[in-house]
Amino acid sequence: MHDLLEGFLTLISPSRCAGCDEPSESTGVFCYSCTALVERASGASAVFEYGGPVADAIQRFKYDGRSELGAALGSVMAGHADHWAGKVDAVVPVPLHWRRRRFRGYDQAALLAKPVARSLGVPALLRGLRRVRNTPSQVDLPHAERQQNIAGAFAPWRLCGVGRVLLVDDVRTTGATLRAASDALRAGGVAEVEPFVLAARLLIEAT
Ligand SMILES: [Zn+2]
Repeated sequence: MHDLLEGFLTLISPSRCAGCDEPSESTGVFCYSCTALVERASGASAVFEYGGPVADAIQRFKYDGRSELGAALGSVMAGHADHWAGKVDAVVPVPLHWRRRRFRGYDQAALLAKPVARSLGVPALLRGLRRVRNTPSQVDLPHAERQQNIAGAFAPWRLCGVGRVLLVDDVRTTGATLRAASDALRAGGVAEVEPFVLAARLLIEAT
C-alpha cells in the first residue's frame, strides 16, 4: 500500500532534475550531483556558464518539447535578477519567428521572461518585439556570419512607451542576437537596454 501511494505521489508530483532528468531529492531545479557541476557566470547579465547540466536542461527545454522547464529555469533567473530591481521598467523576451514558435508550440524566452518580470514587479511585454525574418539557426554559423544573419531580424512592436528594458533570452553566444534585438528596441524608442540570459556560452574561435 505504501509503495502504491508513493508511486502515485511520484506520478502526480514528478520532481526531476532539469539537468540529468533523474528523480531529484533537491528542492532546486538541479539535483545535488548536477548542482555541483553547474558553473555560475560572472557579472549580472548571465546566470550560468553554458555547459554540463545547464546545457542539457536548455537542450531539453528547447528541443524536446519540455515547456514545463521554462517556469523552473525562469524562476532560477528570477532568483538572480536582484541586480535589475528598480533599474528597468519592463522585461522583453527575444522572440522566435512565429513559424518556429508554431512548430515548437511555445516561445522559450517568453517562458523565462514571465517569472523574471514577476520578481521585479514590472510587466513582461511578450509582444514588445517581433521577429520579422525567420533566420537560419545561429548555431551552425561561423562567428562573422552571425551578425549578418540576424541583423534586421527584429522590429519593435508593442513597447507601450517603456524607457528601460531588460532583454531576456536563454543563451548568449556571440551576442549577435541580443545586439539585433537591442537595436530594434532602441528604434522603438527604448532608451536603455540591459541583456539578461540564462547561460553565457564561451566561443572558442579557431584561428
Ligand atoms: Zn541532475
